[in-house]
Amino acid sequence: MTQGGPERPRKRILVIEDNEFNRDLLTQILEDSYVIMQALDGSEGLARAEQERPDLILMDFGMPKMDGWEATRRIKAQPDLRHIPIIAITSHAMVGDEQKAREAGCDDYMAKPIHEDELIEKIKRWIG
Ligand code: MN
Repeated sequence: MTQGGPERPRKRILVIEDNEFNRDLLTQILEDSYVIMQALDGSEGLARAEQERPDLILMDFGMPKMDGWEATRRIKAQPDLRHIPIIAITSHAMVGDEQKAREAGCDDYMAKPIHEDELIEKIKRWIG
């Protein structure tokens, strides 16, 4: 039971990830503390970001229809959405990948495999 004051509404996180296993893993890690919304590709992710205005976005990069770089660029091109922190979560663990994510407009970066403690720490840093 939470003590000391009224409970604040939970922050909302949009998970944009085409891989079901990763999507479920991220959701399981975060759903006790945050409201989780899901999108299965970059195109759907962009639409949901516009409709839902989440507090933070977790963005995969290799996705069908629209990849994560393009979805990030389009979100960050919108004045009323660009304040939303986007954390890149990518399996492309290659040299220069973090740089590419940041150039697309991502605010933070994590390489797969996903480590629960690192993920939670990063998200707390951005939205508490
Ligand atoms: Mn993917």
